[in-house]
Amino acid sequence: MTPLECARLLAGRSNAEREAAVRGWLEARGVPVTRHRFALPEGAGENLAVELGAGERVLVLCAHHDAVPGSPGANDNAAAVGVLLDLLARPGAALPPGLRVRLLFTACEELDYLGARAYVRDVGVAGLEGVLSLELCGIGDSLVVWDAVEESPFLARVRAALEGLGLRADAGYHVVGRIPRFGSDHRAFAAAGVPAYGLTLVPAASAGALRRFVFQPRRAALRFLLRRPAPFHTYHTPRDRVETLEPAALAATGRALGAIIAAMGGRPGGGPPRGAAVSHRPPSGVS
Ligand SMILES: [Zn+2]
Repeated sequence: MTPLECARLLAGRSNAEREAAVRGWLEARGVPVTRHRFALPEGAGENLAVELGAGERVLVLCAHHDAVPGSPGANDNAAAVGVLLDLLARPGAALPPGLRVRLLFTACEELDYLGARAYVRDVGVAGLEGVLSLELCGIGDSLVVWDAVEESPFLARVRAALEGLGLRADAGYHVVGRIPRFGSDHRAFAAAGVPAYGLTLVPAASAGALRRFVFQPRRAALRFLLRRPAPFHTYHTPRDRVETLEPAALAATGRALGAIIAAMGGRPGGGPPRGAAVSHRPPSGVS
């Protein structure tokens, strides 16, 4: 099943159905799932966690399974869920020794990261070396690591991984600071002191317009009232349909995650050790 096919299982469905689709996908394949249920006055749902590998050091990759009412929620955020499910299905994705990768499918992200906040409160952040929250990963060709307020050993590994893929700073990938208008699950972890960033794909062609859109909201508000730059042209609207997703974008996100996982095995800040088996292959053999 491709990431796009996985995304189709969620897009256009109710939040209860989306949550059940993720759990059903995992259970049908015999993947052990840790279910974290929460019920708060603001909302209720279930965070679903899958652990890969065994180790004391933990990398968390998040993708929320809920969507805002009235939107099919394809790029926000069925696409990211599809990328993570595909990571599970990909054979031969070698994990560095001592590293555990936790795929965390959260509920109620659209309620001010309620699910992630409940998760951090109940499960804690012990052992976490870094968190990436995947948001809007289905449209574009340029990676953005955002809310990178300060350098960290984890951020250095992420940069090294992306450079290792042949991507260049401010072209193939961008590292940007705190984004004022938007947020995602990583902020629940950042609040607990863990290096945690958003990971999004954007069209390189709209990078300039995007910077103005997200960093100068007041000045840009009028200009962008009618036409927001991609991928925000569909964000939280009925137009966020699965037909708008680009398979190449989903594949690029998957490649980046594979490289980041591999780079977690290297020396902090030094990227993967020489001779390490780093898989940069595009997704293949996906079930
Ligand atoms: Zn989202």
